[in-house]
Amino acid sequence: MATAGGGGRRGLILDRDGVVNLDPGYLYRIEECRFVEGIFALAAAFAERGFVLAIATNQSGIGRGLYTEADFAALMDWMAGEFRRHGVSLAGIYHCPDHPTAGIGRYRRANPWRKPGPGMLLQAAADLGLDLARSWTVGDKASDIEAGRAAGVGTLVRYDATAPAVERREDVWVVPRLADIVVLLEREEGMRGG
Ligand SMILES: [Mg+2]
Repeated sequence: MATAGGGGRRGLILDRDGVVNLDPGYLYRIEECRFVEGIFALAAAFAERGFVLAIATNQSGIGRGLYTEADFAALMDWMAGEFRRHGVSLAGIYHCPDHPTAGIGRYRRANPWRKPGPGMLLQAAADLGLDLARSWTVGDKASDIEAGRAAGVGTLVRYDATAPAVERREDVWVVPRLADIVVLLEREEGMRGG
């Protein structure tokens, strides 16, 4: 089991909309994609420390008929290229096109992959050999945090540009800037004696 014991690799599992790119709602056009400030520096900081990077993103826009699997794949191919240009490779991209009430046809179903379910994160751990207890996840919604918690991810971070400052709320770090997450990582690495 990839999730058991301490033998796995550390992962950084990123939500996409609102964390990697600004979220205008149901983004699928490459030309409309705007990256969140600090995302590439964040990704590089984790990659340099040996973290495996993945994206896990609800994409009910597919199930709702707003865009297609091919549209999603084209955007993600381009996005992965933008990460590579910044020296970071994405080891996995996971998405869930289904929605329990708004999906059309075969997309109308409950799916444990859809956040707040932990399915995408557990699949990433299995595929990529991640030790989730030593991994991090970053999301902008409560459902991202719930998914991470349900999957047993050790460090849960909520990016909220309206937060007044970095704040610990129960088991979650809330940060107003992505750059704040790099500071948290450096602090943790320092405490590990690295
Ligand atoms: Mg989001």
